[in-house]
Parts: sequence; structure tokens; C-alpha cells
Amino acid sequence: MAYDYDLFVIGGGSGGVRAARRVGALGKKVGLAEKSRMGGTCVVRGCVPKKLYVYASTFPEAFEDAAGYGWTVGETSFDWSTLRDNKEREITRLEGLYRSGLASNDVETFDTRAVLRGSHEVYLEGEDRTVTAERIIIAVGGYPNPHAALPGREHTITSDEAFDLEKLPKSIVIAGAGYIAIEFAGIFNGLGVDTTILYRGQEILSSFDEDMRRQLHEEYLERGIKIVTGQVFENVQLGENGKKIATLSGGDVMEVDEIMLALGRLPSTDGLGLEVAGVKTDGRGYIQVDEFSRTNVPSIWALGDVTDRVQLTPVAIHEAMCFVATEYQGRPEKPDHAMIPTAVFSHPEIGTVGITENDARECGKAYRMYRARFRSMKYTLAGRESFMVMKLIVEADSDIVVGAHVIGPDAGEMAQILAIPMKMKAKKADFDATMALHPSAAEELVTMYDPSYRIENGERID
Ligand code: NDP
Repeated sequence: MAYDYDLFVIGGGSGGVRAARRVGALGKKVGLAEKSRMGGTCVVRGCVPKKLYVYASTFPEAFEDAAGYGWTVGETSFDWSTLRDNKEREITRLEGLYRSGLASNDVETFDTRAVLRGSHEVYLEGEDRTVTAERIIIAVGGYPNPHAALPGREHTITSDEAFDLEKLPKSIVIAGAGYIAIEFAGIFNGLGVDTTILYRGQEILSSFDEDMRRQLHEEYLERGIKIVTGQVFENVQLGENGKKIATLSGGDVMEVDEIMLALGRLPSTDGLGLEVAGVKTDGRGYIQVDEFSRTNVPSIWALGDVTDRVQLTPVAIHEAMCFVATEYQGRPEKPDHAMIPTAVFSHPEIGTVGITENDARECGKAYRMYRARFRSMKYTLAGRESFMVMKLIVEADSDIVVGAHVIGPDAGEMAQILAIPMKMKAKKADFDATMALHPSAAEELVTMYDPSYRIENGERID
């Protein structure tokens, strides 16, 4: 049977665009539909604008620290609309690059919502017609959890709106303590906003190594960010003065300019026609896939955040590349989700690869732990009370470095480089044999010769 397309991709984010471009480059007929802006979460309302805002928020610290180095910085001021509009220009430029990359690989794009009408049929809403494809990829990503159960949630914002606020609020409370809450708290605090984190648990960043969590908590308090733990919002109301009034589960009431929810993300699968096509989802709506990103329907694949494997841009791109290799290049490749480096772009940053101390305790094997805490040279003349913590987790039997965690300036960059030897299963002996680069902060990673403590059968042994 002849189809209109060899491949049709629903969703123009990192995963979808990569798959479409690569298959287009192989001379196949490819279509792609995107209902919003090309580039998806990462480019439009995620990684890229976030990192630009993180850069913006670091200037006040640099102005302060300059004095220790002999500089006198004149009066400074910040204009939110300049940052927001410049960010917008950059996003528009990147969106253009995504579009030209698709066009130059002969991918036909449709600026419309698309829904499944069958195992080979896609309905293009904006064109009111159905097209057919031999293979279909669903790469529609997700959206911020709107916390439907919270009374007054219509008075709150999520990261989607935070990027484009009309005015910078004077005060904000951010619910959640995962990646997004922590990064935005650093951004708002850096830009001079009175910032509070409200977290249901006891310590921020629950999936990270405990040393990183504790250190960042201290650093945030030091920078003036308030952290309220063990509580959630009971309800939110709009005050007569336009302020947002939040009542917390413990009974406290907070009155702030803005309230932001950063409570995880949900898959954009509602109304996508998954039931019509017979595509299975889990209880939360994420599409279930096998190790080759195949759904239960043989002609339909799913990539990226909508599958909830690991919600990161490079992972979606990798899954797309594996799909292309497997389906179009005769080279079956399963996405490899091991040893993924990740960073939290907080102030200071956290960079991490591999297992945490908690993971080490839970798996019951023996580990050697190497840990260093020191003031970064950058902060000595500035007199800033900010500390770096570096930690290596080494499997005792094999000597392989299975976890690396860094908090401090450039920790994200370090994590990317650390991921290479760790992916190659480098041993601690290889780290020890590596010459230090002096003077740098990262040299500490190759000069921690003696273990700080051990973990055996889940117990710490000093
Ligand atoms: P996360 O899963 O990182 O954090 C969600 C936070 O919300 C956690 O603190 C969680 O608490 C809390 N939470 C969840 N549900 C509730 C609830 N009902 N009531 C109160 N608190 C709740 O999600 P994010 O939204 O921060 O980020 C989504 C994903 O986006 C990340 O997992 C990550 O993969 C990706 N991302 C990556 C970035 C990066 O690489 N730098 C940056 C931003 C996003 P608890 O921990 O107790 O469960």
C-alpha cells in the first residue's frame, strides 16, 4: 500500500525534529506537525531561555565580588523587559534554524495540531484532512503539572508563563523543589526578587546526592532564598490589591506578588487519538514503549518526554538517532540510558553523573566514598562564603567510579567531561593516574587519594 509519507512526526521538539531531519536526509518523504512553536520545550520554554535567564541572574554576584578584586562598580540597575525581549529574539532565531534545518532536509512541516486517526493515519486539524504514513513518531513532550486539585490554582503561574511575565514580581513563592523550582528560585533571587521555595519534603532536590542537596540548601539560605519545608499550599486567593494570598497546610498565610507551581510535568497525550490508534499509555498518560521506542502498535513509535524514560533534551535526541539507525539504516540500536550527566543550573550549579550515595546504600554493595569541601579560589578575594563540594563514589570490588557529584562554579561543565571516562568505566586508579590541572577547581577530582569513608551493606563506615 502506498502512503502519503514514509514517516510522519507529531511534535517539533528536540526528538521529533532530529528524527524528521535525519530521515529526510536519507531521501525519505517526511512530514512533521507542530501546534505551537518549532523547537519544543527545550528551545521555546525550557533549557534555552532558562539558561539565558540564569546568566542574567549571575551579574549581581559578579558586581559584588568585583570589589575584592579592586573594582568599583558604579550604580547598576536591571530591566526585565530588555532581558525578556532579547530572550524572545534569540528564541525566534533558533526557531528559524529549526525550520530551515527541516526545510533543507525536505521535511514538509505543518503548523497545526495533529491527532491520530488510526495506526497509519494522522489528522491535521488546521488543514482539516487526514494523511497516511508508513511509520509515525509521537514526540509531543509534556506540560507543567497545573495542580488541578489546588483551589485557586488559576491565580498561579508555571514555568511556561514565568518566562514571559509582563513585570518582574517583587516577591514570589515557588512550590516544588525539583529542577525547575530550584533553577527558577536562583533566577528570581539573582534578579532581586524576594524568593521563597515551598517544599512538601524535608530536603530540596529529592533525587540528588544528599551532600549536594544539603550544600545547595545552605547556599540558597546564604543568598537570601527562604525555604519552607514539610508544607504544601492549601489554597490560593487573589487579594484586592492584586497580591496572591496563599494559605499553607500548616496554617501560615503568605502574601506575595506571584506564585509559581513547579510540581513536575505531565505528558501532552490528552486528545491525541491514542485510543483510536490503540496506543497504550501508563496510568499517568505516558506512552509505553519497548527498548527500541516502539509502542504496542507496530507502525507507531514514541520519543522523548512523552515516554517518561528520562526527561532531558539530549536523551530525546539520542532516542531519535537510535530510531533512525534501527528503522532506516539497518543498524538496530537501543537507546542507552546509563550514565547520563545532568546539571541543575542553580546558584551555584550542581553537576552529576551516575549513582548517588543513597543509591549506593540501597544496593547493598561495598563502595569507597571520596569527598572534598573547599572554598573555590574564585571566591577567596571576594570573601564570599560559598563552598564547592566534590564527591566520587567508587565500587570497591571493581574500583570503577560509578558516581560523581559536584556543586560549585562550572559544575555542569565538569559533569559533561566526567561522563566520558565514567561511560568508559574508568577506575579510580585512572583518576589517580591523571595529572592535575593547576590551579583549577576540577583538579580536586583527580587528587582525592584517600577515601573519606566507606559504605558497606548500606551502612557508613568511617
Ligand atoms: P521534578 O520532578 O524535578 O520536581 C518536581 C517537584 O515537585 C519535586 O520537588 C516534587 O516533590 C514536587 N511535587 C510533585 N508533586 C507534588 C504535589 N502534588 N505536591 C507538592 N509537591 C509536589 O520536576 P520539574 O517540574 O522540576 O522538572 C520536570 C523535568 O524536567 C525534570 O524531571 C527534568 O527531567 C526536566 N528538567 C531538566 C532540567 C535540567 O536538566 N537542568 C531543568 C528543568 C527541567 P518530591 O521530590 O518530594 O517528589
